Amino acid sequence: MSRRLELAGPAGLHQPQRPEWICRGCHLPYPCPTARDRLVVIYGHTPALAQRAADLLFEAAPDLDGVPPADLFNRFIAWTATAAAPS
Ligand SMILES: [Zn+2]
Repeated sequence: MSRRLELAGPAGLHQPQRPEWICRGCHLPYPCPTARDRLVVIYGHTPALAQRAADLLFEAAPDLDGVPPADLFNRFIAWTATAAAPS
């Protein structure tokens, strides 16, 4: 196991702490890299991945009032366009 993964803890811990939307596992803004990887594994490179990412944005937006829309888009949606395929 890589040091990075050890520090991140079990993948199941990478869930959002609301209303801050900070990862419970690694304390990065959610969705953190591990959470993004898990979403790719779950949904693959299908429209469902973008839909789930959009759902998360809809859930988070009221809590993150004041965050610029472009920042919300980049954080919750944009990464799905360049996410690595599951191996
Ligand atoms: Zn995390």
